[in-house]
Amino acid sequence: MNILFLIAAFVLVFMVVRLLLKTPDVKRPKHPQQVSSSHMLRCEYCGLHVPENEAVKEGPRAFCSNEHRELALAQESTRE
Ligand SMILES: [Zn+2]
Repeated sequence: MNILFLIAAFVLVFMVVRLLLKTPDVKRPKHPQQVSSSHMLRCEYCGLHVPENEAVKEGPRAFCSNEHRELALAQESTRE
């Protein structure tokens, strides 16, 4: 009788292990697609793409930095 109990216990353990192995990994993939929620703007001076929240804006135009904004504006004023 004891051996039957052992076999039953073994089968039970085996089933539990199988069930555990079958469970799909619920681990969330740690690659939530680059945080590109903000869209990219192109610097009008150097053409670099910068996230909208980091871009320096001048009206409808965007620049990668304040320096480029000023350089672009300076270039414009000397163009005439
Ligand atoms: Zn730039």
